[in-house]
Amino acid sequence: MRRSVRLLDKRAILVCLIAGLVAGALGIIGGRATALSLARADLDGYTATLLARAESIVRETVDVLARANQIKGVPCGPSDLRHLRIIAFKARHIKDVGRIVEQKLACSSLLGVLSPPYIQLPPDMVTADGRKVWANAPLVLTNEIALVVEGRNANVVINPAAYVDLIQKPFRYSLAIVNPAKGFALLSRGARLVDDSFIVARKDVSINTGGDLVRIDCSMAYSVCAVAALNRGEAVSPHSVSVLGFGALGFILGGFSSLIGFLLHLKPKPLAVRLRDALRSNQLSMVFQPIVDLHSGRMVSAEALIRWTDRDGCAIPPDVFVSAAEDNGTAGEITEYVLRHVSRIAGPLLRDNPELVITVNIVAADLSDPSFYGILEQTFDGSGIARHQIGLELTERSVAQPDVAVAAIARLRALGHPVYLDDFGTGYSGLAQLQDLNVDVLKLDRAFTNSVGTGSVTVSIVPQILEMATALGLRVVVEGIETDTQYSYFASAPNHCYGQGWAISRPHAYEALLAFKAAH
Ligand code: C2E
Ligand code: MG
Ligand code: MG
Repeated sequence: MRRSVRLLDKRAILVCLIAGLVAGALGIIGGRATALSLARADLDGYTATLLARAESIVRETVDVLARANQIKGVPCGPSDLRHLRIIAFKARHIKDVGRIVEQKLACSSLLGVLSPPYIQLPPDMVTADGRKVWANAPLVLTNEIALVVEGRNANVVINPAAYVDLIQKPFRYSLAIVNPAKGFALLSRGARLVDDSFIVARKDVSINTGGDLVRIDCSMAYSVCAVAALNRGEAVSPHSVSVLGFGALGFILGGFSSLIGFLLHLKPKPLAVRLRDALRSNQLSMVFQPIVDLHSGRMVSAEALIRWTDRDGCAIPPDVFVSAAEDNGTAGEITEYVLRHVSRIAGPLLRDNPELVITVNIVAADLSDPSFYGILEQTFDGSGIARHQIGLELTERSVAQPDVAVAAIARLRALGHPVYLDDFGTGYSGLAQLQDLNVDVLKLDRAFTNSVGTGSVTVSIVPQILEMATALGLRVVVEGIETDTQYSYFASAPNHCYGQGWAISRPHAYEALLAFKAAH
């Protein structure tokens, strides 16, 4: 529950949002690039269509001029005029076909006979094969301007609307007639979209000029080029849905991947690593559980038990993190923390009550760690706390290596510390091994205590254990006394037992221990 609250904390949301926005922006950039390349493909297609139309007009012009030059009878006579009209009628892109007599327009399919003949302005260009070209000639009949091409004794007026059906917003276009010999381009339609030098080079190119995408396509057969342009902004807008789609996708992917990153970041670190942090940042504390003389009810000692509440407020059971620390080789740090803590917190109580004992749980690694003995010395020598007031509890697991354990127990006892064999009965040490270990106190595991009053087989060996303990001169502390029945059973045992358990007191903070001591 707390973890999910953490997942949603502001930091996570902010990181996901920022990553989402960055990825969204990248998505939009990517989307824009895709939109531009789609627009460029559209532009290429459009330019190719324009050029195809221009080529078909030139082809028709050449053909019409050839036929119009086959004069039928007298130039501009009735049969010639009829001939010109039939040619014009059949043409697709040509508006008028005229007869040139002595460099003047004498008649045309549309105008009939001109009297006097029309004197033409000098042409804008003369092609290599001698055709004259007027790119924007004013028409005699209307105010329109049109492309006029003259060859020998005939001319043609290209329909000014020859490209109307190809106008397609937002594309802009122009058509150029190139004079490669003179190195210039004559614009027959549209505005100047690109520098002439690009057209004169007569290469098919895609270029970016200013805010435009420009495409130039030149004919292989004729000296014409089609140029089309598209504003970049307008190029992207038809694809804005895909641009936004890319952006949204980027946002979602960015947010999602950072959420994953966050979750990975939140993935719990190994317990032993978190414990190191806990030791340095005050997440650990101590509680004390009283141990009483079951005959008199007097408190004789108390067991110090460590507690860890992590940053998320979760209490981690000591047996779990102590064994993780043992595996990781850092359990000695816990022992040091507990010894120093006990000396500081319980010092006054111990100094005031010289017979009172506080027991501390230690681990196997402590026994063979020279610094452990140094810490005992530093912590208690000169502290006013007698060594016999600090009992050391070792589980049966800790004494699995008898060579090390026997020597260490002897050394600790020599220093004055009473040694307790914790959780007795759960491990490997049989009654026979007890003698070799030579401890002071045997803590009977609560599994035996639980079996009292149940008729279980376990209970049947309890008297045997108690008897053996007496024989070895060991004191017995009965663990896990939870009921009055259990209390009475051990209180009336032939041995003089001490006891610990919820029926007496739960482990509590130090202040509660003081209160318990005062009452018992
Ligand atoms: P332990 O040394 O056998 O400690 C007794 C455990 O039994 C404690 O659990 C205590 O709270 C619990 N207990 C006491 N009376 C009763 C009862 O009547 N009924 C039941 N069901 N439980 C009772 P805790 O504090 O959770 O500690 C568990 C184990 O963690 C300890 O077993 C000890 O092995 C280890 N441990 C605790 N504190 C430390 C420490 O400071 N250092 C080391 N090395 N180990 C520690
Ligand atoms: Mg213990
Ligand atoms: Mg125990």
